[in-house]
Amino acid sequence: MKMLIDGELTAAKGEESFEVHNPATGEVVDSVPRGGREDARIAIDSAAQAFKVWSEKPAIQRSRMLLRIAELVRASAEELATSLTLEQGKPLSESRSEINSFANTFEYYAGLVGSERGAHTQFPTGEGFFIVTKRPLGVVGAILPWNFPVSLMGWKVGPGLAAGNTFVVKPASTTPLTDLRVVELFGKAGLPAGAVNVVTGPGSVVGEEIIASPKVAKIAFTGETATGRGIMESSAKTIKRLTLELGGSDPMIVCEDADLELAVEGATWGRFRNCGQSCTSVKRLFLFESIAEDFVKKLVDRVKAINVGNGMEKRTHMGPLHTKEQREKVESLVSDAEARGAKLLIRGGRPAEKMLSGGCFYSPTLLTGVDYDARIAREECFGPALPIFLVKNLEEALDVANDTMYGLGSSIWTKDLEKAYYAAERLEAGTTWVNSPPISRAEVPFGGTKQSGFGRENGIEGLDTYYETKSIQVLEYRKGKRWAFPI
Ligand code: NDP
Repeated sequence: MKMLIDGELTAAKGEESFEVHNPATGEVVDSVPRGGREDARIAIDSAAQAFKVWSEKPAIQRSRMLLRIAELVRASAEELATSLTLEQGKPLSESRSEINSFANTFEYYAGLVGSERGAHTQFPTGEGFFIVTKRPLGVVGAILPWNFPVSLMGWKVGPGLAAGNTFVVKPASTTPLTDLRVVELFGKAGLPAGAVNVVTGPGSVVGEEIIASPKVAKIAFTGETATGRGIMESSAKTIKRLTLELGGSDPMIVCEDADLELAVEGATWGRFRNCGQSCTSVKRLFLFESIAEDFVKKLVDRVKAINVGNGMEKRTHMGPLHTKEQREKVESLVSDAEARGAKLLIRGGRPAEKMLSGGCFYSPTLLTGVDYDARIAREECFGPALPIFLVKNLEEALDVANDTMYGLGSSIWTKDLEKAYYAAERLEAGTTWVNSPPISRAEVPFGGTKQSGFGRENGIEGLDTYYETKSIQVLEYRKGKRWAFPI
């Protein structure tokens, strides 16, 4: 495939390319250009030109364009979902849901931007009035991860385009294909050339060039906390706006009065969806001692029923990890926990089936008796291994749940709404789900506290991060009331 710059399918100036592999088989799916700094600069210039046209379109026209894009994406959903599974590894059903989520985001922001109202207020002194307007920022750099390449592009480009901005998208190097296919549809919908460009290539080259450019007003990033830290430092030079969605280590607290069947299903959904590679995911499970034995028995049975396999097969519930490096990371977190005394209730590891040997598979793993200082409790575990901790009561659960540098998601499971609200107010996280696994929706603001990042995506708050507030003061000069110098 080629990159998309200024509405054209484009090869890299350096004429190099790199391969994209299927995590389930190791086979090459396709190759894309290895873009460099010059390619990034051309794309930024194209986005800057397109901004002059796109930002002048009335909101209703931008809204209609978003709806047309959503319609084309829905019409190609099956082809896009297949492409996503082949490059990312997740089961086809999850890929379909991701494509649907992209279209939902565009439809949501199409509705929101069409119904926006500004503010117009008289000065209390009667000297005139002022208008508060919202102006788009300009060119935005969207730097994307590989775990949800399409929906997380939608969370950035959807509100950003709705607000009148233009984009240079840098997809993760291991998942550029479906993003390119989706953005090709933007052109078919009639979006002006250059309004959304996609430059493939290494983050340390293409990403850094976008961040360094004074022509780029904002960076919207999802990825590792360490990468986010570096982006903050580099973007300080040009005072960029930033939205950083970084790592997480979400706690799930199950109280003694929880619906255990529901909570077992929630823990399974929350930990093993996308093979555990979700920013908001059940990464630490806290069980009240009184229900722990019963809960663990049910959870072990439920987790043993998960079919691991190629995402293209219907019987597959959980696909492979995304890369060999990701598998090695999970393996090292599990062996560190074991070395510190953890007991493996299910020792998943690499499956023995020969047909899975070419992929990055790792079966579901459950650990108990985990030391709070083990790396799996301290770092982000981006894979299907779930550490279980026992707690005596809610206060202890809240203390240990909050004892982390992360603050992205969290969940509390209880039938007592008062208790749920008490916990939700105290859990240090951008979102607390009550009796639900971490399901994100276009309408609900999403983002982190602490070192999980800042800024919000989705909801009205997500749209606001793509605007600058502009005040226009209109003074009425009345006799004896006008300003004069000297004061
Ligand atoms: P990264 O943060 O390295 O990658 C995310 C994106 O940033 C990619 O597009 C990458 O490009 C780009 N990038 C990398 N370095 C730079 C840079 N210096 N300047 C600008 N852009 C850059 O995550 P990884 O893919 O390496 O995953 C590592 C870990 O991060 C995972 O194990 C997981 O713990 C966490 N992670 C968390 C996510 C979340 O949603 N919370 C999502 C993804 C990862 P390229 O692909 O070319 O390197």
